[in-house]
Amino acid sequence: HLRLELREAIQQKQFNLFYQPLVHPSTGRVKGVEALVRWCHPERGYIFPDVFIPLAERTGQIVAIGQWVVEKACLDIAEWNRQHNTQLTVSVNISPLQFGRTGFLEGLNYVLEISHLSPELLKIEITEGVIITGAERTVEILKSVRALGVQVAIDDFGTGYSSLAYLTLLPLKKIKIDKSFVFRLPDDRKSIKLLEAIYNIAKAFQLEAIPEGVENEKQLQILSMIGYKLFQGFFFGKPVPTYEFLKRLTKE
Ligand code: C2E
Ligand code: CA
Ligand code: CA
Repeated sequence: HLRLELREAIQQKQFNLFYQPLVHPSTGRVKGVEALVRWCHPERGYIFPDVFIPLAERTGQIVAIGQWVVEKACLDIAEWNRQHNTQLTVSVNISPLQFGRTGFLEGLNYVLEISHLSPELLKIEITEGVIITGAERTVEILKSVRALGVQVAIDDFGTGYSSLAYLTLLPLKKIKIDKSFVFRLPDDRKSIKLLEAIYNIAKAFQLEAIPEGVENEKQLQILSMIGYKLFQGFFFGKPVPTYEFLKRLTKE
């Protein structure tokens, strides 16, 4: 049922992107945004990705949705950078199926061409799941992505089942630290230890580490004390549609 509705949604482009800021609090600057898809259902209102992305992955519909997301995100942010004379980066989530498909690289290339976004402003986020399923092929695709100038981040770092050995094999730039680690701050000593250890791993591999799900000042204080510099979370801003984000940015 939902599957049929999703087919219609794809045909009629019933999707919208919300953007959440990545903030560098020491300067107060918004460094970039993450694009998060929403399904604007004609009767049910906004449907969150956790509800339809897993289904879209099973049916393969994620490929069409994902390509639309990359395209829309790059067009939006390129336009926004032109209008406001900024250099915001845009992060886009790529599902395992989408990543492994032939045509993925051509799709990225096409989007960069039509949007005129500088490739280094586009970041793709993949989960550890992509790495497990792909192995050698993943390394090849990632190298080609890097050759385009596009950066790669590991999303939900530390929550998959993959071996840390991939850090030595893959051309990565960033890790996004899952909100489940941040959630237990400021009180949980073990979470603090873990976040310190992850910080050190990231530093050793020259990866930028970005904690997600920062919801309050106490969490931010502890993370800053550990050494983290760039953050994402409701404390800095919830995901919002473009026009609201623009309002906020132009106020600063
Ligand atoms: P994600 O990539 O880990 O995205 C971050 C999620 O955490 C977002 O949920 C965001 O709203 C939420 N979040 C951000 N800050 C906070 C916070 O301070 N506290 C809490 N409790 N939550 C916070 P959202 O938008 O519902 O997206 C859920 C997941 O759906 C994403 O997790 C991502 O895996 C997937 N997703 C979203 N858009 C896309 C897309 O275009 N393509 C694909 N393949 N997956 C997507
Ligand atoms: Ca993400
Ligand atoms: Ca994440």
